[in-house]
Amino acid sequence: MNVIIFGPPGAGKGTQAINIVKKFGLFQVSTGDLLRNEVKNKTEIGKDIENIISMGDFATDEIVNDLIERVIFDPQKKNKLIFDGYPRSLKQAENLDELLSKSFQKINFIFFLNVKKETIIKRIERRKILENRADDNISTLLKRFDTYMETTKPVLDFYSKKPNFHEIDGDKKIHEISSKIEQILSV
Ligand code: AMP
Repeated sequence: MNVIIFGPPGAGKGTQAINIVKKFGLFQVSTGDLLRNEVKNKTEIGKDIENIISMGDFATDEIVNDLIERVIFDPQKKNKLIFDGYPRSLKQAENLDELLSKSFQKINFIFFLNVKKETIIKRIERRKILENRADDNISTLLKRFDTYMETTKPVLDFYSKKPNFHEIDGDKKIHEISSKIEQILSV
């Protein structure tokens, strides 16, 4: 099966994706991680991406779509993908549909982690200490939240009409969210 996990920055997408990877043997596809890797490896696009990420802006659809294509066509990962942080725009959602249909795959489950802004601010403050991410400060977070609302909300509206869409209360404790997701995936 292929899964999308959706939600604003700090909603806990990464944490839940890692749990699903462990329990269901899927591969996590985090576009944030793929982009940070480009920065770490100092690739040509990495230099531009560094600024974009630290400002709380989005990488271009072209860059992200290119990175995602390699993963979707990896035969070892076929029908074992969990998308974390992708798609974030309608253009990316269309690209995903196209790549999946070309590779004879589909999305089986879409989870939306719905979280209050206050909860996110608390979580980001904690993550900043634990992971030391350059984009984890309050002003960048608020920028990322606004960017999310503007660009990603239409994607959410698009997916929320699908029958395999599940809204999860992301303010709950990590293990409560995990068990809710596991329960749906196990049916
Ligand atoms: P994340 O690790 O998912 O929170 O992503 C960190 C940052 O990477 C985001 O704030 C964006 O700047 C960038 N990013 C990650 N995924 C995408 C995407 N699908 N499209 C555009 N930019 C992205």
